[in-house]
Amino acid sequence: MMEKLKIAIQKSGRLHEGSVNLLKECGIGLANGMNKLRTEAGNFPLEAYFFRDDDIPQYVEDAVADIGIIGENVVYESNKQITVVEALGFANCRLCVAVKKGEEYKGPASLNGRKIATSYPVLLKKFLDDNKIKAEIHEISGSVEIAPGIGLADAICDLVSSGSTLFMNGLKEAETILQSRTVLVKNNKLSKEKEALLAKLLFRIQAVKKAKNNKYILLNAPNEKLDDIIKLLPGMKSPTVLPLAQAGWSSVHSVLNENDFWEIIEKLKANGAQGILVVPIEKMII
Ligand code: ATP
Ligand code: ZN
Repeated sequence: MMEKLKIAIQKSGRLHEGSVNLLKECGIGLANGMNKLRTEAGNFPLEAYFFRDDDIPQYVEDAVADIGIIGENVVYESNKQITVVEALGFANCRLCVAVKKGEEYKGPASLNGRKIATSYPVLLKKFLDDNKIKAEIHEISGSVEIAPGIGLADAICDLVSSGSTLFMNGLKEAETILQSRTVLVKNNKLSKEKEALLAKLLFRIQAVKKAKNNKYILLNAPNEKLDDIIKLLPGMKSPTVLPLAQAGWSSVHSVLNENDFWEIIEKLKANGAQGILVVPIEKMII
């Protein structure tokens, strides 16, 4: 029987939809698995298991699942023998220490002797030890952000994305102790067959990620400006240049990275580019 790659995905929560969508963009459709523990992909040798995210490191270490999608916060908090393979580029967040808004914060020493509520005692303890701070860690499993308001703690250590939850609870960010990305993790002893399947999946994930970070650009340029315009557009190898029906003009096609996008567009315009079209790329294989 052909081997199947077993992937562990969060059953419900912030990572569920992004995980299912990423697989979908990789051409791997999962049957609606919300109420199931397990579902099979139709068109890739893969089966998905749905778990609480906190349980995934243990299951991957024990080879109940071969790979999994979780936040690095959970990877490092769990201390299991698993390997981070690839950052996936969605639902990233940071683990922060936050204190009451009105409080003066002058660096980690301000936390000496304080009581800090968190669901991440391992990562918090490491931060405190690294900074030689003695503080009391109060472990709670949910709604950490309300702890200072009800007198349960002086500060918290919790995950933040926009910061609005902190703000609404009268707290302010004091320290970032971990920039946490959502990652693909794997069991450390995968068989050759499973490593090969994982490589195939990774190839697709990378193509999807690159496509998200890049845009396809088409523009018209007067021929005398072509050299300047081409210099602005690296492209995958180099831009494609096609003559327009109107003499003296060319159409230029290329690929632009999202990060440099606006700056380059401005320069293209300044160099005489017209009719600029920017189109999303669905997959990108270099
Ligand atoms: P489960 O029932 O699976 O244990 P949970 O309540 O622990 O769910 P979620 O709140 O869904 O988990 O968060 C899952 C992951 O999403 C986190 O571990 C973290 O990596 C990531 N994440 C991204 N942004 C945030 C955020 N603002 N708050 C919390 N987690 C976030
Ligand atoms: Zn969880």
